[in-house]
Amino acid sequence: MKNITIAGGGLVGSLLAYVLAKKGYQVHVYERRPDMRKEVIDGGRSINLVISHRGWTSLEKAGIAEEIKEIIVPAFGRMTHDVNGDQHFYPYSIHGKSISSVSRGELNKKLMNLAEAMPNVKFTFNQKCVDVDVETGTAWFEDYNTKQTTEVKADLLVGSDGAYSAVRGKMTSLPRFNYSQQYIDHGYKEIHIPPAADGSAQLDLKALHIWPRKQFMLMGLANLDNGFTGTLFFPYEGEESFSTIETAEQAEAFFQRNFPDAMPLIPNLTEQYMSNPTSPLLIVRCSPWNHKSKVMLIGDASHAIVPFYGEGMNAGFEDVKIFTDILEELGDENMHEVLDQYSAAREKNANAIADLSLRNFIEMRDLVADPQFILRKKIEAKIYKKYPEKWMPLYSQVKFTNIPYFDAWTEGQRQDKIMEPIMALPNIAQIWDSDEVENMILKSL
Ligand SMILES: Cc1cc2nc3c(=O)[nH]c(=O)nc-3n(C[C@H](O)[C@H](O)[C@H](O)COP(=O)(O)OP(=O)(O)OC[C@H]3O[C@@H](n4cnc5c(N)ncnc54)[C@H](O)[C@@H]3O)c2cc1C
Repeated sequence: MKNITIAGGGLVGSLLAYVLAKKGYQVHVYERRPDMRKEVIDGGRSINLVISHRGWTSLEKAGIAEEIKEIIVPAFGRMTHDVNGDQHFYPYSIHGKSISSVSRGELNKKLMNLAEAMPNVKFTFNQKCVDVDVETGTAWFEDYNTKQTTEVKADLLVGSDGAYSAVRGKMTSLPRFNYSQQYIDHGYKEIHIPPAADGSAQLDLKALHIWPRKQFMLMGLANLDNGFTGTLFFPYEGEESFSTIETAEQAEAFFQRNFPDAMPLIPNLTEQYMSNPTSPLLIVRCSPWNHKSKVMLIGDASHAIVPFYGEGMNAGFEDVKIFTDILEELGDENMHEVLDQYSAAREKNANAIADLSLRNFIEMRDLVADPQFILRKKIEAKIYKKYPEKWMPLYSQVKFTNIPYFDAWTEGQRQDKIMEPIMALPNIAQIWDSDEVENMILKSL
């Protein structure tokens, strides 16, 4: 095992290239797009991302966490904005822990630079994977400019070519390959919130900002330049939806009605709404993630999820770590076994974070402003503080630990069952801090 082809030089493909090169493999990354370090691509899609604990764990294992820390902005909690412009801050952790906001483009460029600095990694751009022979690990890449197709055969072909993966597409014709794809009713549009004229931030930099409006929401994550990348998550159809807000005037009235405090922060809001692309949100589940010892899937190619837990890339980075852990244990002379174990270990966790991410959409767009939900969080924080060995809130398990997603989700469902009767107590708002409630919870545990 010497040569590895990686189809897709996005976040996960670039990290994997670096990690495999450190292990001595010859890695060739073929990326469909032009080199983003030389050309501006994806206008209006500069989305920033949150790195959480498990993402950091993978970056630490790769030995590059310090370089990435240079380009992040920490967020210590949610700042909700109601329609009257009132803001409320809810910390993510009772221990002052934070998640890290990072520009997708800057992170991708940094990972590419780190990988390309290795003598045994090569990136070739404008190369679209158009066909794959899964039995031999051979891939065909079409050059975007010349339209010439190159055949590439390697010991292992990795599909890290994202949610619409061509490598996975080829695997779907294999016998007993499971595959499902689901578009949710909502899409998203980027709305950039610039810094003030003097360069200062217009919103609290230490928070992830949410304007929850039940059926839709606006969200803002800080950038290094004191601006924020805002994202409007909005239904495609319905009374208030992409299909009914079609003109600049309608967009202006919609924002005035729903996000009046955001309007003065974004001078060209309606222009952005009209010109920035609307993108769909997709969930992909599949199994297995390998074909024998020749082909494997990783990142969004194997598990595209909706972005409401901010875990898609983190899950992909975790794939890289788990794959290399197993590779180190079994050795590449057992690649078939390595890939079988990797696939088995990751699938149930990917399905769990897919479910958790859908659940978090409801939490973010609706529940964060709900007094019952806020009260439940308060009770959970109290129990967590007093009995950390017995109770850890689901959000903390997902964002601040490496507890497998499947285990976190199982524990979260158990916590739901315990909290249901507690929250149904008629006078819970008055007695939430009492020994009675505490004892009821302890008894259920
Ligand atoms: C709005 C939004 C917000 C998000 N927020 C977060 C967040 O806060 N935290 C988080 O962890 N995740 C987040 N995600 C998810 C995250 O963006 C993805 O999980 C992550 O980008 C997956 O990385 P990847 O490398 O697997 O795929 P991608 O980043 O999609 O990279 C795939 C690469 O493959 C290339 N490619 C595609 N097809 C081919 C082909 N046929 N041949 C060759 N190359 C090809 C593409 O050009 C691309 O460079 C968010 C996603 C969205 C949409």
